Amino acid sequence: MSANNALHIAVLGGDGIGPEVMAPALEVLRKIEATSDLKFRFTEAPAGANHYLATGKSMPDTTVRLCDEADAILLGACGLPSVRYPDNTEIMPQVELRFHFDLYAGVRPARLIPGVPSPIVGADQRGIDLVVIRESTEGLFASMGKGVVTDTEARETLLITRKTSERLFEFSFRLAERRRARGRSSGGLICVDKANVFKAFAFFREMFDEAAKRHPNVKTDRLYVDACSALLVKRPWDFDVMVMENMFGDILSDMTAGLIGGMGMAPSADIGDRHAVFQPCHGTAPDIMGQGKANPTAMILSAAMMLDWLADKHGLESATEACERIERAVDKVYADGIKPMEFGGSNGTADIAKAVLAAL
Ligand code: ATP
Repeated sequence: MSANNALHIAVLGGDGIGPEVMAPALEVLRKIEATSDLKFRFTEAPAGANHYLATGKSMPDTTVRLCDEADAILLGACGLPSVRYPDNTEIMPQVELRFHFDLYAGVRPARLIPGVPSPIVGADQRGIDLVVIRESTEGLFASMGKGVVTDTEARETLLITRKTSERLFEFSFRLAERRRARGRSSGGLICVDKANVFKAFAFFREMFDEAAKRHPNVKTDRLYVDACSALLVKRPWDFDVMVMENMFGDILSDMTAGLIGGMGMAPSADIGDRHAVFQPCHGTAPDIMGQGKANPTAMILSAAMMLDWLADKHGLESATEACERIERAVDKVYADGIKPMEFGGSNGTADIAKAVLAAL
């Protein structure tokens, strides 16, 4: 925080619909600023495929430095399928930031907002309010760029470390406790793995069990990832917080986003011990970019998650209130019947942004 107590936010719009959904999120934060005692200083910076095209780098050192110094990082979406490194992989500064700042806890909440259609029968009555915590710096992704491919075989190595797992589990137990304290849920935590087949996951589960002993007040369970997937589509309302390895979390968090209406509804955060990046779960959606069709809800809810994290970190009660105000405003907009084009409705980015601002 700077001398005048303004929260310094690094703003990386990125590519495709990234800047299109970022603009409404910043408008929402400016409205919060005008109606609370919170102050923000936004600094915009380049990152992504377009920057790579112009300079040959995914992001400049100045962007990394800004992210290091800022109180929090807001990111739209980065990368375009048509822009690739010589080895054919996409430009992904958002993934680089996870490794650079050791953002091990990928938090992917999935809450079904009343009025939003879910593909799950009964979800509108029973509700869905769960969180996937995806370890974000190791697991199978530790092998990124290091895989070995020959004419006859390919190998990638999965990594689980004690150092990261212990911090990940502490974070997860704490989140489960905070959710229960807020009356948001049962406060339960499930370890999702494949401990029956792989030693690495048995090790992961063993460390989870050790952490569980340190948090006897949190109800815990353990599920294999395959069984967990089936249960998630059958009874998503039975789930609260789940913690898992990177690749499992990559897949299950897209699935849980599907349960609550779609990618445009799913916010996320990548959190470390000091830094955190807040961005929607979705990508740059090149198929709809530049057409005013993008749903900015996930980006707006990611900004709300940022306020909640800042509140917890700096003891800022008004930031907790601001987070809840944004969530209530979004709920009101959907209860009043807004229908994003994403669900076959007629409301584009500008309509949704305007409605949320009015509800605030
Ligand atoms: P990435 O690999 O970067 O996650 P992706 O191509 O897998 O990208 P998205 O860019 O998220 O996935 O797009 C998947 C689909 O969801 C596309 O059809 C896209 O139009 C749609 N989509 C994603 N985000 C939104 C949004 N905010 N509003 C409306 N539709 C969206």
